[in-house]
Amino acid sequence: MPGSLITISGGEPLLYGNLDKLLLGLSKKHVISKIMTNISSDVAPLVRTRKIGYRVVASFHPDMTGHKDFGKKLALLKECGFRIIVNYAATVANMERYDYYKDYFEKKLKIRFRAWAFEDLKNEPEINSTRKIYGINYGMRKNVFNNHKLKNCLAGNKYFIILPNADVFRCITGYMYTTIPGCQDIACLQDLGRFSLGNLKSATLRIHNNRFVCRSPCKTVCDIELAKVTMEQKTL
Ligand code: SF4
Repeated sequence: MPGSLITISGGEPLLYGNLDKLLLGLSKKHVISKIMTNISSDVAPLVRTRKIGYRVVASFHPDMTGHKDFGKKLALLKECGFRIIVNYAATVANMERYDYYKDYFEKKLKIRFRAWAFEDLKNEPEINSTRKIYGINYGMRKNVFNNHKLKNCLAGNKYFIILPNADVFRCITGYMYTTIPGCQDIACLQDLGRFSLGNLKSATLRIHNNRFVCRSPCKTVCDIELAKVTMEQKTL
């Protein structure tokens, strides 16, 4: 791979046994941009790699962890110099305590806190509610398309998702469409194989030279900013 900007996400990266070695190794050739974690495990591997200077995006699921324990780990990372954002799992049920947690993280810990809406695409009432919730962090995503079925995208050319087994996909959404049972129906695409680019360890890897016209229906979970998605002009 050429020198790249790398985001580490999951699953849960802290469950990977050699995370610190992986980060230090990658940082010799690439720029680690951010790590997305629920910090449910020991954060020592992150502390050991503090000199790399990446951002920590911490997913807070109040049904999985108490906010004080979560906050303690964040405070330690902040002390080590990490820039941190808390992504709050903004399900309908969780929104009842949104203001309380926002106050706690932003006023007490001085850490940015934002709602992150989750959509269960098979559940219409949930979709409508989470769309309302999404209004809370709308400012974070400026590039949401009304017609999201004609997207012109650099995923697969300048942006990739690499799995621990070295399989490569154009984008996280494409990976989900291709591999998660039930998502194929949602994707409404004629050829899901277009999302899969092969494996880094084999000659099957294909990096594309051109932009990709994507008709996926996603707009809240699509990697719009990272894959530099613009609107396709011509009608397909
Ligand atoms: S438009 Fe979105 S879903 Fe489609 S390839 Fe690009 S990042 Fe992936």
